[in-house]
Amino acid sequence: MAIATINPTTGETLKTFEPLTDAELEDRLARAAAAFRSYRLTSFAQRAQWMRAAADVLDAETDTLAELMTTEMGKTVKAARAEIGKCAAGCRYYAEHAEQMLAPAPVDAAAVKASSAYVVWQPLGPVLAVMPWNFPMWQAMRFAAPALMAGNVGLLKHASNVPQTALFLEELFRRAGFPDDVFQTLLVGSDKVEAILRDDRVAAATLTGSTPAGRSVASIAGDALKTTVLELGGSDPFVVMPSADLEKAAEVAATARCQNNGQSCIAAKRFIVHADVAERFEQLFADAMGALVLGDPTDDGTDVGPLATEQGRKDVQELVDDAVGKGATVLVGGTAPERPGWYYPPTLLSGVTKDMRMYYEEVFGPVAQLHVVPDLDAALELANDTEFGLGSNAWTNDPAEQERFARDLNAGMVFINGMTASYPELPFGGVKSSGYGRELSDLGIREFCSAKSVWIGESDAGDTSTARPE
Ligand code: NAP
Repeated sequence: MAIATINPTTGETLKTFEPLTDAELEDRLARAAAAFRSYRLTSFAQRAQWMRAAADVLDAETDTLAELMTTEMGKTVKAARAEIGKCAAGCRYYAEHAEQMLAPAPVDAAAVKASSAYVVWQPLGPVLAVMPWNFPMWQAMRFAAPALMAGNVGLLKHASNVPQTALFLEELFRRAGFPDDVFQTLLVGSDKVEAILRDDRVAAATLTGSTPAGRSVASIAGDALKTTVLELGGSDPFVVMPSADLEKAAEVAATARCQNNGQSCIAAKRFIVHADVAERFEQLFADAMGALVLGDPTDDGTDVGPLATEQGRKDVQELVDDAVGKGATVLVGGTAPERPGWYYPPTLLSGVTKDMRMYYEEVFGPVAQLHVVPDLDAALELANDTEFGLGSNAWTNDPAEQERFARDLNAGMVFINGMTASYPELPFGGVKSSGYGRELSDLGIREFCSAKSVWIGESDAGDTSTARPE
């Protein structure tokens, strides 16, 4: 895949980049290893000062950066601005909390026959981050902020279609005052990931992206015995029960499906509604999907811009055509408009069955499928009938049902009466083919640390009894 900025509203190639040569890559890895040797010794207070400065740069550059993100991958400019605000908040969150999250944890010294014992959280080293284009700033930042605050250095291999955003990230950390080479952007294709991951100087990897890419990185990392965090695909269920506020659920359903032009891992993708309220919910949901404005992403009045790539739109249209060809009904949308760019309209289908590809595959565009079920057990069964397990949503005001969904939806995250979203305070991640490990919160920062046990015996050199193995 060429490393290039291609405007999804026109298909025009605006800028291309040569990938790093092998010699340049070698130099970057050597610099990362060298940077780690001193950066790991910096204090939390110093890192926090740099991280807060990074947040200030983001605030100052919001408009320019938002325009760049919109140009590279088509998200609406208002969504891009919000994403940058979230990145700044994420930087400030880890600046504030990293030290306390990674504070040495005392251990009962008498129980381990020591004079003192504790656990320290230490950085791993250079961490490779393979990132997707859909939230080109936030995905990278929610790796970078905790990883750098923990004392690691970052090596970003960003998606090939967002090279300018990727280069901005390297510049951001430099401008914020972080030492040279603490965060580097590597302009390379995915064919170089294996060599980087196998390099002895690279300690760990995190990949956010598709399940096949995750499998590939996981198997290489497994062979190289390196730790990984994988945030992969999702086909989140959105269950609506009779006690729900249907108006609110339908409005949120349309947003949950079409946010980021339908290209979010945690977008609700399969809508499962109880038969008692199916007719009413279908009408409300169809109205809400139909009311979304498809158009120029630079226009503040636009709700849904183009898909990021030509291939992405082809994939979506193929999944819709497959379902319709096998008998699904189009309630809204279903056909790409005749205009330049890779636009695809908000689309709602009913009658999706197991023989249709989209029943099991992730649809990475603004296409919702509506299923009707007779009761809660059937809702749970359908919701869990997927290889994925990232987010999940249930709408019900019945406390017993809320407990059932919280317990039995097989996903990394369950949101009741609200839309799945990421917050710095909440662990983010999935189960099954949606990946493993957690980002954000204290769990996210510890993924990039090793827990080192420290045991200190009596200072009396004559007494070795405490150290005797049993
Ligand atoms: P993708 O093709 O997997 O690309 C993501 C990143 O992985 C890019 O940097 C890509 O590089 C690289 N890559 C692709 N194949 C690779 C391989 N075999 N080995 C190593 N690296 C590889 O994903 P996408 O289609 O662009 O993004 C959409 C997917 O990401 C969806 O499935 C979505 O659900 C998932 N996603 C998950 C989360 C989450 O937090 N769970 C968040 C966002 C997106 P190139 O660009 O150079 O190919």
